[in-house]
Amino acid sequence: MRIEVRGLVQGVGFRPHACRLAERLGLGGSARNTASGLVIEVEGDGECVGEFLRAVRETPPPMAHVRDVRTEYMEPLGERLFRVAGSAGSGVAEALVPPDLAVCDECLSEFWDPSNRRHRHPFINCTNCGPRHTIILDMPYDRVRTTMSGFAMCGRCRAEYGDPLNRRFHAEAICCPECGPQLRLTDSRGRMVASGDPAAVAAEMLATGAILAVKGIGGYHLACDAANAAAVRELRCRKRRDAKPFALMAKDAGAVLRVAEMDGGELRLLHGPERPIVLLAKRNGVLPEEIAPDSGRFGVMLPYTPVHHLLTGGDCPVLVMTSGNVSDEPIAHEDDDALRRLGLLADAFLTHDRRIHTRTDDSVAHVAAGHPRFLRRSRGYAPFPVQLPCDTTGAEILATGAELSVTACLTRAGSAYMSHHAGDVGHLSAWEAFLRAVGDLKTIFGVEPAVAACDLHPSFATTRYARETGLPLVRVQHHHAHIASVLAEHRRTDRVIGVAYDGFGLGDDGRAWGGEVLVCDLATSRRAGGLRGMPLPGGDATARKPARMAYVILRGLFGDDAAARADRLLPRLSPEERLVLDRTLADAPECTSMGRLFDAAAALLGVCDDNTHHARAPLALEGRAGLAKPDECGYYTAPAVCGGSGQWEVSGAEILRGMIVDYLGGRTVGACARAFHESVARATLDICLRVRKDTGLETAALSGGCFMNALLLERSAGLLRENGFEVLANGIVPAGDGGLSLGQAAVAAWRRHVSCNTHGDTGD
Ligand SMILES: [Zn+2]
Ligand SMILES: [Zn+2]
Repeated sequence: MRIEVRGLVQGVGFRPHACRLAERLGLGGSARNTASGLVIEVEGDGECVGEFLRAVRETPPPMAHVRDVRTEYMEPLGERLFRVAGSAGSGVAEALVPPDLAVCDECLSEFWDPSNRRHRHPFINCTNCGPRHTIILDMPYDRVRTTMSGFAMCGRCRAEYGDPLNRRFHAEAICCPECGPQLRLTDSRGRMVASGDPAAVAAEMLATGAILAVKGIGGYHLACDAANAAAVRELRCRKRRDAKPFALMAKDAGAVLRVAEMDGGELRLLHGPERPIVLLAKRNGVLPEEIAPDSGRFGVMLPYTPVHHLLTGGDCPVLVMTSGNVSDEPIAHEDDDALRRLGLLADAFLTHDRRIHTRTDDSVAHVAAGHPRFLRRSRGYAPFPVQLPCDTTGAEILATGAELSVTACLTRAGSAYMSHHAGDVGHLSAWEAFLRAVGDLKTIFGVEPAVAACDLHPSFATTRYARETGLPLVRVQHHHAHIASVLAEHRRTDRVIGVAYDGFGLGDDGRAWGGEVLVCDLATSRRAGGLRGMPLPGGDATARKPARMAYVILRGLFGDDAAARADRLLPRLSPEERLVLDRTLADAPECTSMGRLFDAAAALLGVCDDNTHHARAPLALEGRAGLAKPDECGYYTAPAVCGGSGQWEVSGAEILRGMIVDYLGGRTVGACARAFHESVARATLDICLRVRKDTGLETAALSGGCFMNALLLERSAGLLRENGFEVLANGIVPAGDGGLSLGQAAVAAWRRHVSCNTHGDTGD
């Protein structure tokens, strides 16, 4: 029997698994990787062949994802033995590229065993664990097409690699202290620091307050002892990072629990082989305030490389592990570049000579409304695909995202592959990362796109790029793409009520949108309501200064009486700034941005009046709201009103009017912040109820960056469900702009699908 297995079947120990299975059942034959997956041939007793096939389907290796198994009977060859064959490079490239996984428990027990030849070996791995995506140059997955190709296996490693009963049978990244990459410790100029055990010296340096650049799986981190306030302050100063939280790496779950709270769902997410950074409620007073100054949460991860285990195993069980970059640049992953960019930031470099081919940031997730949700989907998950609801063969799509948190998305035969996170492409280095991500997707998946999908905004660099490909262009409205990302994840093609809340996206009517309720499916979308337009003088500059937005809203609510309230509520807004705003207000363009409404609320409550990093003010507001007791807070009413165009709109300013009265009346910041969140959730429900009445639609899909706010998501989804709505939200890709390219690709795919089928019908 010839068995063709498709899905994530390479780099996960499938061939050795098949070999052990065949030996147990007394079957002969072979297993080999092909560009489309895995081909196994088995022959022998009929019942045993049947059992073999069942096992392939039902009990594949733990890291494999079997999508499709096809079988075919052939003439027997009289083979008695089972062998693992080399890879066949021909055929359509369909195999999935495995993501990078944390070092497994079996490797870890060898790692800590002084009698094992890989005792403390910084590159220990097996077929169940270790780097994959970041070291793969091309498919099919074999050592020669990885950055391990330059390391010749020693005799003992070769024997393990060739032994079907060994856990490292065909582990392509296999190595040992004798034949593998070497760890080294250098000073900040790349000069070797003499030492026998670089990791041990590095750990000692961390314990004395040093800042280290540490080469990991997908790039460099900057590390210091999280308990050392002076070191954390120094790192913040060198990274030129005002208040953006630093991620932590803790030795184990026990060490996590000493600094943060977590429940079972959070522990499972934290401990999974993908090892994302998980946002957890802070325990106050344990670690220095400088780690995450405005936030009620810490981003924490567990060690995922052997080196991490060495560094956290000593005197510093909790380290700051922040990406190796200056402010918003992409993470450094190439050695020379790292030395150049991080030389002034780090006291020393703990590095090695295994090249990182594909840059990959840490993924960031949290548990909200009962499910894991991603704020950034990268290492451990990329490039695992999302299945689109229709085939794309013959017209593969490249989608380019928007401007912030950019990812690219490439389709292949109905699967959508998202790149790692390239970042804010306004920065040159992020732009270069984007271009490279597009190139890597095309190479690894062997796809030349025939269609480009992009944002509606004509001057985004990603839109220009899509246009310059010369391919047929599908321009997708920003908020429609957000909702489409949810629909694609859930493989839904029906019409829904889409609630898209974020900072900014160009609307169908040319306005700056961001608080929209749409009636849409994957192909089409129309605005059915949302936030009422607010003046937005100064555009981007106002987005960076929440106090300005707050002042604009005060002016709208109280007219000339706004000044006295501004004196009290916005003391840091200068008289000059006010004057400029007063003058430009009348001619200012309108926006409907939920992000700006959150900014204004944060500024009015004195929580944050400077968005030094993306969404700082809304995050700080969510943090404050989390401190209040839910039942004592109430909410501020702002009913949905039907505008001239039949759209149901809520006045964000009216919500803030209630909050201002409450706050000036002496309520705590936390209670006001909580009531503000509740009010937005209630207003959302109100609009959805009215749109449901108009359209009969009973499903609400929630997306956009504001829904990365766990409290807003939980309250909105909760209220909608209580009122009989089916609620869909993002669970695989981020609700923010990181998930946008998936939505764009899904819209382009579905529009083509619909138009082809319509033409087909007329033909019939
Ligand atoms: Zn392992
Ligand atoms: Zn070796």
